[in-house]
Amino acid sequence: MKRVILICLAAILSFCSCGANFEYAREDFFTMSTYATLVADGAEKSDIDMVKETLLAIEKKFSATNENSLVYRYNNGKRDILDDECMYVINAANKVACDTDGAFDYTLGSLVRLWNINGENPSVPDKNALDEALLHTGYKKVVIDSGVSLEDEGIMLDFGGIVKGYAGDAAVVRLKKAGISDCMLSIGGNITMLGTSQSNKIKGQTGWTVAITNPYDKQNVLGYITTTDCTVSVSGDYERYFVQNGEVYHHIFDSKTGYPAQTDLRSVAVICDDGIYADALSTALFVMGKDAALDFYAKGLYDFEAVFCTKDGKVLTTDGIKDLFIPEKTAAYINGKNIEFTK
Ligand code: ADP
Ligand code: MG
Repeated sequence: MKRVILICLAAILSFCSCGANFEYAREDFFTMSTYATLVADGAEKSDIDMVKETLLAIEKKFSATNENSLVYRYNNGKRDILDDECMYVINAANKVACDTDGAFDYTLGSLVRLWNINGENPSVPDKNALDEALLHTGYKKVVIDSGVSLEDEGIMLDFGGIVKGYAGDAAVVRLKKAGISDCMLSIGGNITMLGTSQSNKIKGQTGWTVAITNPYDKQNVLGYITTTDCTVSVSGDYERYFVQNGEVYHHIFDSKTGYPAQTDLRSVAVICDDGIYADALSTALFVMGKDAALDFYAKGLYDFEAVFCTKDGKVLTTDGIKDLFIPEKTAAYINGKNIEFTK
């Protein structure tokens, strides 16, 4: 799911000594049902193993499909005590759900399971089954205090829209504690960064340069952002979907209808200091659509920036990022027309 392509020349030099002072480690691996890349200046094998173990432990806890995971067990009636880490993620998920009026909703497990978009041969579910699944959703039916209780025992939690962002935060904090000051961890469409890439250091720049994929042409990009100490998270309709009778059905649902969100956006990239919020907000803004997303940004509830790509071939940036975003002017839309960049 490489929706964000890392532009990092130095990263190609995996595990090689680059001059007397530093060693650049790069590791590509599969985790949390997606591809991950870690690039870390000065990292040793033990640091890389620590990152992998951290992500594996988070997957084992939060996976909605692994039968041994805590969330799977919880969803299937084994109401184990939710530990501090679960409570941290649930509290963040619930905050975004409340603040976005359910555009982000972590209780869509029954819908996600029914649509089974990541499974083999997905198809549009039967209307009755959809209505039944929809009945057992809704973050307002979750009561959170020191623990969690459900007003509807049929609710299934699903953290697919937030947990990769959380995992990026958790792994990078640990790398920092281990003494790493320049690293980048990409998990699917989420890139968490610390410090500066080697190639940018050479150029005298600070930060990492990430490229935002063009949803109309996945091998190419919409543009670049050089930033650091934050996460860039992308949600879109172009990675996980199926087509039935000419209609595209993607994996981000509208909690009000139970269907894939009907939105005027193809993708949203959110840039935020906290990966957990970058991830949840990118999902929420995609569901909201462009105008509601811009209104949400203007409310200032969260400190974030965003890059939107619309279904009519336009790219828009929020005020705080417009000078940082470098458009790829040749980026193509449908029938070879150029994407239009507006600030
Ligand atoms: P990805 O997981 O591909 O990076 P997102 O972060 O946007 O993309 O999350 C999509 C996942 O979140 C879905 O696969 C599903 O598990 C869950 N999800 C789907 N719709 C919503 C929604 N409206 N709110 C919260 N989570 C959702
Ligand atoms: Mg998300």
